[in-house]
Amino acid sequence: MSSPYKGLIDRYRSRLPVSTDTPVISLCEGDTPLIELTNIPKEIGTSARMYVKFEGLNPTGSFKDRGMTMAISKAAEEGARAVVCASTGNTSAAAAAYAAKAGMTAFVLIPEGKIAMGKLAQAMMYGAVIIQIRGNFDDGMGLVKRIADEAPVAIVNSINPYRLQGQKTAAFEIVEALGRAPDYHCIPVGNAGNISGYWMGYSEASGCNTASCTLCDGNCPYLDQPLTQARPRMLGYQAAGAAPFMRNGKVENPETVATAIRIGNPQSFALAKAAVDESGGWFDEFTDDEILAMQKRLADREGIFCEPASAISVCGAVRDIENGRIGDGALVTCTVTGNGLKDTDIAIQQCQKTGDFITIDAELDAVKSAILGRLN
Ligand SMILES: *Cc1c(COP(=O)(O)O)cnc(C)c1O
Repeated sequence: MSSPYKGLIDRYRSRLPVSTDTPVISLCEGDTPLIELTNIPKEIGTSARMYVKFEGLNPTGSFKDRGMTMAISKAAEEGARAVVCASTGNTSAAAAAYAAKAGMTAFVLIPEGKIAMGKLAQAMMYGAVIIQIRGNFDDGMGLVKRIADEAPVAIVNSINPYRLQGQKTAAFEIVEALGRAPDYHCIPVGNAGNISGYWMGYSEASGCNTASCTLCDGNCPYLDQPLTQARPRMLGYQAAGAAPFMRNGKVENPETVATAIRIGNPQSFALAKAAVDESGGWFDEFTDDEILAMQKRLADREGIFCEPASAISVCGAVRDIENGRIGDGALVTCTVTGNGLKDTDIAIQQCQKTGDFITIDAELDAVKSAILGRLN
């Protein structure tokens, strides 16, 4: 009899900086599906195989749970009673949930009025102390870095190295599911921790141990039994109004409908840049209209409802396949970072414009003509 899945620390214990003394705080995160896209590749006429790693199916609805199980478990090991983070929403939801499980207090700094309602509801329900600041994520991040010197709280933003350790496991899962590394990995970039975590994961999975690898210091845990020979090219995509990697430096007042990546001063800038350069990948950017169009397309062509920020990885894959940057027959994976149910306001607004929504009297004839009218 196989034992039930117990979360990613249990599964990848030998690849993670935990010991038998580490109290594992888990909500059974990870082990998310890798879903092959079938309709979009047909529409764009490509023989590339496109897969989505749907991280919206984690316990709090985003990939942040992968990093948070590690960050909170290590904080518990170190005896922390409270944690703090700045957040565009999903980090606060994850921090609040894992802190609840650990019996800790979570303090979350969020930008006033710029957080999706579902995420705010989560943080409130899980019992975090919500500190709304009159400023953006980057302002919150600056404050969090300073408060840890003034108050007994552990930082659980992705500058906490255990966050990336947890997040790297998504790359292990992809390599295991495909039996090899993809040729290209497409991913949204905000604070730039996740792209750095994936690169660490792919590098370790290949047992790379190369001089140029800035991540594992020659201690790749898969060195003796690599899971894969190659590593993918890492493709990082940003919202046009919040694209510091495209501007090669800070963006002062980042703006985008994709609030999860509304960040102008990414904390993992250097790691992410190194990942893209070492892998022979690239960064690119998309407008809010392009992001929302792909969010809708993924839902109504593929049955995958993600939040706006998450759709940008598929925006990137589609554009780069169409323009030939990604060649025919390539194996492409896209991280779809968060669940669409977190941000229903934007989704409903956009669908009301396109109009598949009618109101009729409660009568059989009216229902019949509504249906037949749409089938003709
Ligand atoms: C946090 C987040 C991102 C950005 O990830 P970074 O590690 O900050 O680059 C993208 N999408 C969603 C849904 C997120 O929650």
